[in-house]
Order: sequence, then C-alpha cells, then structure tokens
Amino acid sequence: MHHEPAPEPGTPHRPHDVGGPPSDPVVRDLCMSVFDRWRCALADGHEGLHAAEVEGSSTSWNDAASGRRLRGL
Ligand SMILES: [Zn+2]
Repeated sequence: MHHEPAPEPGTPHRPHDVGGPPSDPVVRDLCMSVFDRWRCALADGHEGLHAAEVEGSSTSWNDAASGRRLRGL
C-alpha cells in the first residue's frame, strides 16, 4: 500500500471559455455588407465606411455602394 503524492497546487487550468471560437471575442458579429467581391471584415454595426482586405490589398465603401443588394431585408 502506497499513497500517491497530492497534485501540485499550481496545476495549470484551462480558461473557462474553452470551446468558443478562436477569433477575437470582442467581435461577435461581422458586418454583412458586400461590395463586388469584397466583404466587410468589420464588426456589425460599425460606423463609417465598410472596409475589406483581400490578399494584401484593401478597399472601402459606403452603404450607398451596396445598398441595392441589401434591400432584401
Ligand atoms: Zn461594414
């Protein structure tokens, strides 16, 4: 009969939010605005121009540019 040593008190614990998306927890919903092949990568409800970045190049547009495509809602 031998007893095992007690576990170290400093055992690393995983964060309580394990299982969530690995992306930035601040941005939960992305803007759904699209312009041509661009898709806005900013947070939903952001102010100002929409902005997207693809393959190193970036662009920005406003609601007027994509408004016609959003009339479905
Ligand atoms: Zn946007």
